[in-house]
This record gives sequence, C-alpha cells and structure tokens, in this order.
Amino acid sequence: MADIIIVGAGTAGLTAAIYAVRGGKSALVLEAVTYGGQIVNTPEIENYPGLYKVSGFDYATKLYEQAVDLGADIRFETVKRIEKDENGFKVTTDQDVHEGKAVILATGAKNRPLGVAREQELVGRGISYCATCDGMFYRGKVTAVAGGGNTAIEDAQYLADLCDKVYLIHRRDSFRADVKEVEKLKAKGNVEFVLNANVTELVGEPKLSAVRVEDKFTKEVREIPVDGLFVAIGQMPANEAFTNVALVDEKGYIVSGENCLTNTPGVFTAGDCRTKEVRQLTTAASDGAVAALAALKFIG
Ligand code: NAP
Repeated sequence: MADIIIVGAGTAGLTAAIYAVRGGKSALVLEAVTYGGQIVNTPEIENYPGLYKVSGFDYATKLYEQAVDLGADIRFETVKRIEKDENGFKVTTDQDVHEGKAVILATGAKNRPLGVAREQELVGRGISYCATCDGMFYRGKVTAVAGGGNTAIEDAQYLADLCDKVYLIHRRDSFRADVKEVEKLKAKGNVEFVLNANVTELVGEPKLSAVRVEDKFTKEVREIPVDGLFVAIGQMPANEAFTNVALVDEKGYIVSGENCLTNTPGVFTAGDCRTKEVRQLTTAASDGAVAALAALKFIG
C-alpha cells in the first residue's frame, strides 16, 4: 500500500510527490500521458521565480528527475476509478489496482476545442492544439492562432519565427495575456491581428486550406487562407471519473479552497484541476506542497 497516491504528473502532482517523500512517506504518482503537464508545450518560461528562460520541456524533465531521485514512484497508467474502503482508497487504472492511505488529485486540464464543425476531423490535417509540437510542419507556411491568453500569444510568437505569416484571431480586442508578451508579438513584422472575430468555419478537403471568421460587431465574414490553425483557447478540467470522491463545480473543476481539501477526508486536490482564480506554474507548485502537507497530516 502506498501512503499517498497522486493522480497526475504535472507541476502540482510532482511537487506533491516531492513533499510527500521528503515528509518520509511513499508517493505513487499515476500519469495517463506524459510527465510535466501543459507546461511541456511552452517554448520558454520567464515567470517562474529562479528559473529564468527555461523551456517547458526542460523544466518538466528536471522536475520529473527531481521527484524520481527523491524516491517517488512514477508510473504511466490511466486512473479509471477511485473507491474509498475501510483501509483507505482503492485506485483502479487501465493496468493495475493500487491501494493508498490518501489520494491527491492533480489532474490538470485538457485543451478546450473551438467547437466548430469538422474541427476533430481536421486534427493533424491543419488543426493543432500545440504549436511547439507541430509548428515545424508549418515552416514557411501561413498559420493562424485562435485565442487571446498567454498560450495563444506565445504560440503566435513561436510560429511567427517559423512561418511566412501568422494571423492572431481573438474574440475580443483586449487580451488576457501579459502585456509584455502582446507587445513582443506586435513587434513581429509578419503577424496580423484579427480582433473581435470568431472562427466560424473550417474550409478545405482533405486538409485545412482556410478559415472563415466573423466580425463580432459587423457580422461580416472574411475567409483567410491558412495552412494551419492552432487552437489555444484555454483548458477544461478532466475530473469526470472522480466525482464520487470529489465534488466538482458546474465547469467540472474540483471544489476546493487554498487548503486543497475536497469534500472527502483523505482526498486532496492540487493545481489547475481545482476551483481557483490564478492558474499558473507557481500556484500549481504551491498547491502541490499544500496538498502533500495536508495528506501527510491526514495519514499521521
Ligand atoms: P486562458 O488564459 O484561459 O485564455 C484563453 C483565451 O481563449 C482567452 O483569450 C479567451 O477569450 C479565449 N477563448 C476561450 N474560449 C473561447 C472560445 N470558445 N472561442 C474563442 N476564444 C475563446 O488560457 P491559456 O492562454 O491557455 O492560459 C491558461 C493559463 O496558463 C493562464 O493562467 C496563463 O496565464 C497560463 N500560461 C502562462 C504562460 C507563461 O506564463 N509563460 C504560458 C501559457 C499559459 P476571452 O479573453 O475573451 O475570454
């Protein structure tokens, strides 16, 4: 039996693992995809204290190695179910059944789709959710990025260095992204901002060849020829499998406060998967520490 089972190996989950093992308990981390979480797709992190200008992948790899070196047991299994029993919790994955005294849910979030017709059909044929993964395929071509947060702006910056032209399509004319990053993007000579606009149609067979965008105010529709569209409109939580042990809000985020407790004693939560105002690397790391310390206290 593991002392603490942690679901998710992003910043929150791996930080929780570090605190758990340093607290003298065993930590089993179960991750469905790969370590690092969303940050692995960020070309350069500038706002993590003490780590200036590090790639998301390098940061995540160091974090993974740190957790393993300190003694965390990290396995790549998809958690299907968590049940409370008299000894603690039974965690069923696609490969095994694990027992733990406490559980930390650090499931992060997944990419939000635009919801436009044919979007899923065109994934890999012009639609992508990851500029750093797929950007190279569009070297010397024309791309668009949808979104106005840090991810979209940084994706557009990255693509502007690879592509002939990049359109930044955003539904408003102000941005959630940091002002400094927006300014950096504006300084690129090959970026056109298409603001107050929504992507309404994806054109092209069998590959994407254009997007149609509608002006929010005039309702005018413009067709923009592109080879690729990078969708960067935020994330959605993925907690459907755990609602029996953790209450979620109407958007699917695990209901919790800064203490990282859930409604089930022994189940804690950390990072982007929980209700919170600020979803940043720093706050994910902070949650990981808080959740692990709370779990250590619970185990006693
Ligand atoms: P985000 O900050 O939530 O921004 C999502 C963007 O997509 C917003 O501009 C939003 O528009 C737009 N959007 C949402 N739903 C849409 C829809 N259905 N159709 C069209 N547009 C839609 O998401 P994010 O950029 O992925 O960032 C997530 C978190 O990670 C943020 O806290 C961000 O600061 C952080 N992050 C940090 C870094 C870094 O510091 N280096 C890098 C990447 C991400 P509205 O603004 O109109 O709502």
